[in-house]
Amino acid sequence: MAQYYTSKINQLAGHNGEEVTIAGWLQKSRSGGKVLFLVIRDGSGFCQCIVEKAMVSGELFSELKHLGQESSLCITGQVRKDERSVGGYEILVSEAKVFCDTKDYPITPKPHGVEFLMANRHLHLRSQRQWALNRVRHTVIAAIRDFFNTNDFILIDTPIFTTAAGEGEQNLFNVDYFGETACLSQTGQLYLECGALSHGRVYCFGPTFRAEKSKTRRHLTEFWMVEPEVAFITLDELMELAEDFVCSIIKAVLENNISDLELLGSDIESLRKIKKPFYRLTYSEAVDILTGPKAAKYLEDELISLSSSLEDAENKLAELTETQSQAKKQWQKDKAAAEIIEINSAIAELKRRIENNPKHARLAAGFQWGKDLGGSDETIISMMHDRPVFVTHYPKDVKAFYMKSNESDAGVVDNFDMLAPAGFGEIIGGSMREDSYEMLLERINEKGYNPQDYSWYLDLRKYGSVPHGGFGLGVERTIAWLTGEKHIRQCIAFPRLMDKIEI
Ligand code: ATP
Ligand code: MG
Ligand code: MG
Ligand code: MG
Repeated sequence: MAQYYTSKINQLAGHNGEEVTIAGWLQKSRSGGKVLFLVIRDGSGFCQCIVEKAMVSGELFSELKHLGQESSLCITGQVRKDERSVGGYEILVSEAKVFCDTKDYPITPKPHGVEFLMANRHLHLRSQRQWALNRVRHTVIAAIRDFFNTNDFILIDTPIFTTAAGEGEQNLFNVDYFGETACLSQTGQLYLECGALSHGRVYCFGPTFRAEKSKTRRHLTEFWMVEPEVAFITLDELMELAEDFVCSIIKAVLENNISDLELLGSDIESLRKIKKPFYRLTYSEAVDILTGPKAAKYLEDELISLSSSLEDAENKLAELTETQSQAKKQWQKDKAAAEIIEINSAIAELKRRIENNPKHARLAAGFQWGKDLGGSDETIISMMHDRPVFVTHYPKDVKAFYMKSNESDAGVVDNFDMLAPAGFGEIIGGSMREDSYEMLLERINEKGYNPQDYSWYLDLRKYGSVPHGGFGLGVERTIAWLTGEKHIRQCIAFPRLMDKIEI
């Protein structure tokens, strides 16, 4: 028997009929008297391993029978095809070696609330959902780098300690920097513009910090953002770049993570249908939609359909509860219990949406031109679209000082937000940058900032200024959208939130 391993579970198809050794962790086990069913996770996948009493020593059979979840072990056995098995193959065990016999794994079998799971994040990362989410994240990040690296972009790393607030003062993290106050980067953009005027096409990709004081499902205090910045570009070209970029991420995830997306319950068919061009709306058109009859009708229809889904889910819950109480075998009870947890969380989500629906309707009807679109407004606009939608030309007063004023309407800026469809909301914010020295200085003064603090940034408008623009995409938001994950905190291994920093 090999010391550690010779094969990976995701490669078993190439070893059908052969003897292999795999090393991993016990995810679950079930005993059928003279046979044990062990599901093992080895990092590459999950596989059912069959231990027949007649095929191993009595001692080993007993050891394996009493192993707790998350015990680590290495097994050797013959691979055989079995459509019913996770992954389509199983292993008939002939030998095994246990590294750590885990007892009382704290996460299972009891169902837990999210607080417990977050406090035990070091272990919760091993759950099947988290495993799949981390794999999708891996693909998204690789696709991001591939896209820019193969489209003539140069990576410029921008600093994390800065003195320049890129996105307003209200959510800055201040830190003591040898007696001076510095802050953690909210965006790399201002620095990246220097890179764009040097290389033409550049991007930065790193952690971004914002002291988000409200608890939402879409905001972390530390998140990963990728930001391209391009010299000699127009707003339309920038949006085309964003479209191509998002399509390339979707393509990579569909190519590499179908089984993860299935496990996560993501809407794969809708993702497959996403193609260029995405929808384009001006901010003013978005306001007309929000305050007009179309949004009201949409929300009414949504309420009817949510209520009927809730009724179905409650019936299903009653059925499962009955099944659970009638079940004779422990594994049947466990299966029903797991389904009950899922249906309860679906019910909670439906109730949340039903509760929010009238709130959305009220907010939408009362929306006024000039306000920034909030989470609810974005939800409604994006709910009404089956592909991402660009909302462009926001009122100047609600946007950052560096956004370029529109030539024919000075009240709005040449910017866009990209909203992911089906109610998800913003994943990208981008704009053309003010490239006139005088206009930029005026904007800095209007906002009450000190021009001295932006002297190097203003210099970019003095020395070889060009039309340029860029955007930022939030990695965790994108993952939450693609996977259908309800809360952004699951889309990064160690989330940082207002009330969470320890693990
Ligand atoms: P929102 O309106 O949702 O607060 P924003 O307009 O403040 O987002 P931008 O400054 O445009 O965000 O940043 C670009 C992108 O970074 C956003 O479109 C989003 O994908 C992501 N992002 C922004 N803030 C956060 C956050 N606190 N947590 C996770 N991702 C974020
Ligand atoms: Mg924000
Ligand atoms: Mg926004
Ligand atoms: Mg934005």
